[in-house]
Amino acid sequence: MVERQERSHTEHKSRPGTGPRREGGGGGGPRRQARRRKVCKFCVERIDYIDYKEYRLLFQFIPDRGKILPARISGVCYPHQRLLKSAIQRARNIALLPFSADM
Ligand SMILES: [Zn+2]
Repeated sequence: MVERQERSHTEHKSRPGTGPRREGGGGGGPRRQARRRKVCKFCVERIDYIDYKEYRLLFQFIPDRGKILPARISGVCYPHQRLLKSAIQRARNIALLPFSADM
């Protein structure tokens, strides 16, 4: 971190003892496990084809009626998101899943 203190002219280097207050303890380690990056579950399970009959699986990606969970939230990669989307649409066509009201 670059420290630029422009308004501390008076106390500049007058007291060597009371430097910047940095308590030890190392609060907030920089390398904590980042939970943000989700892994595409289909990639993990090596699923190449998403069966539209697996409605329980598809339901996980439908938070709302007629909506599909965005890939950013679900963590699904784009190729799989596309497969998922077509699977969901196919499932809707055979009425396994609720249609969107405004389709
Ligand atoms: Zn994937």
